[in-house]
Amino acid sequence: VRTLVLVLGDQLDAAAAAFDGCDPARDAIWMAEVAEESTHVWSTKMRTALFLSAMRHFAAERRAAGWTVHYRALDDAENRGTLANELAHAITALRPAGLRLTAPGDWRVLQAIRGAAGAAGVPLHIAPDRHFYCDVRDFAHWARGQSELRLETFYRNLRQRHGVLMEADGPAGGRWNFDTENRAPFGPQGPGATPLPLQIEPDAITREVLALVRTRLADHPGALNGFAWPVTRTQALDALTRFIDERLPAFGQWQDALWPQAPWLWHSQLASALNLKLLSPREVVDAAETAWRAGRAPIAAVEGFIRQILGWREYVRGVYWTQMPRYAGSNALDAHEDLPAFFWTGDAPMPCLADALRQTLDLGYAHHIQRLMVIGLYAQLLGVEPAQVHRWYLAVYVDAVEWVEMPNVLGMSQYADGGLMSSKPYIASGRYIERMSAGSYCSRCAFDPGQRTGPTACPYTRLYWDFMLRHETLLADNSRTRQQVRSLERLEAGERAAIRAESEAWRRTQS
Ligand code: FAD
Ligand code: SF4
Repeated sequence: VRTLVLVLGDQLDAAAAAFDGCDPARDAIWMAEVAEESTHVWSTKMRTALFLSAMRHFAAERRAAGWTVHYRALDDAENRGTLANELAHAITALRPAGLRLTAPGDWRVLQAIRGAAGAAGVPLHIAPDRHFYCDVRDFAHWARGQSELRLETFYRNLRQRHGVLMEADGPAGGRWNFDTENRAPFGPQGPGATPLPLQIEPDAITREVLALVRTRLADHPGALNGFAWPVTRTQALDALTRFIDERLPAFGQWQDALWPQAPWLWHSQLASALNLKLLSPREVVDAAETAWRAGRAPIAAVEGFIRQILGWREYVRGVYWTQMPRYAGSNALDAHEDLPAFFWTGDAPMPCLADALRQTLDLGYAHHIQRLMVIGLYAQLLGVEPAQVHRWYLAVYVDAVEWVEMPNVLGMSQYADGGLMSSKPYIASGRYIERMSAGSYCSRCAFDPGQRTGPTACPYTRLYWDFMLRHETLLADNSRTRQQVRSLERLEAGERAAIRAESEAWRRTQS
């Protein structure tokens, strides 16, 4: 073998830069399924099954295109368990003159592969990841010129540079931001009829993987029933078309709304296909913009959707790669509680949280507001150690890859980076959940979102006030939370003491 092209589980793009200049007649592909990737965090069955099935489909397609693929399956008797060990073995067996790899999404994996190549003395070429609009070096350059990192400036800059949703005289529709039109709560009647979720029938390869995961990973969390995630590029493109036709027009309006047992609503379900590189963000953004130009979706929905991909997705990647490895240890709020055990079972004592957790474990999916303002909010208000929160999120979602998961968890959701990524902690009381779900959870809950003390106090509400008491100085120093923390002035000393004592007592029931 002249060059061995290393393809990781989240690099399933036949046009990736690692393949540049390579020739199936002389070069070969290397891929490995290893236990380490499902056990370094205790990955759900759904997440592992998605990765393995998509990898096996990609390998089959490359073979059909004339490539030799050296593929180590999870259940091979000789499987050495880690990427580093498998790569070391492949280098000894195949004696490649060189290795090529597209820049990986995970700092840990980059170190492992560099280490194995270095130890074997084989040159490793790391090619830039063309999947993204913004190169990490460009991000670092942009970040150096900013007094603080903020999504809005970064996003506007990228829209201008790439001519996305732009008209001759400025942003399409006359504004950069349509947040005020987006993010409505449902009325008391709820969402009504919602579009059907993805329904992709598992083929023979997927069925084999599901059986493997059921036996090999029997003690891993979560379920596998109803596996319907795109595992090939063709399926991912179909999922994109369905989203544009059926969900995009209402995407913005209901982006932040919550409803019991309504996991998908108008969300795209495209994150896993994007993160595995079955889809490129450019084709997703272009499809959304084309729908608006053709009058098939309103500007607010399209801007709201493109902001997530061209904005947030690129932004968090820049944060991750410019801050690692230090970022992983962030704990600016000095939080040290253990993650409650019910995060792994879904048996939370509150219906809003139990619904989001059960759905996560069953489907490998929860939408953004469930992740941020139900699950993440609870962990933050409780004061859970950020590293434990990070490990949970990385384990449970089908779209979880560290470069995107970690800044969302440590930065956006837990404020563990002290404000590097978000301008304020995302904190709210149970009233927020009540409003965004039109009372549908609270009306069937033993707690009251308007109560902050006493036996029927909503745990979110009580812990929200406790959080403000614990971090009063920090919140008062921040112009975006100053007003919020002023409400503490209304609390008598007795009520403050009760909030603190009851919150401590509640914490002791949660581990
Ligand atoms: P939609 O709601 O349809 O959004 C469209 C697309 O925009 C998504 O597919 C995704 O690619 C992108 N997007 C939206 N929000 C973000 C964001 N904040 N950061 C980056 N991309 C975004 N996303 C992941 O891809 N992997 C993760 O591991 C992940 N972990 C998260 C953890 C927390 C605590 C939070 C608050 C958010 C996390 N997100 C993560 C972002 C977001 O919640 C998911 O991308 C989204 O819920 C996936 O569902 P969807 O494809 O239906 O997205
Ligand atoms: Fe959730 Fe509080 Fe409402 Fe109960 S009262 S459903 S805990 S927000």
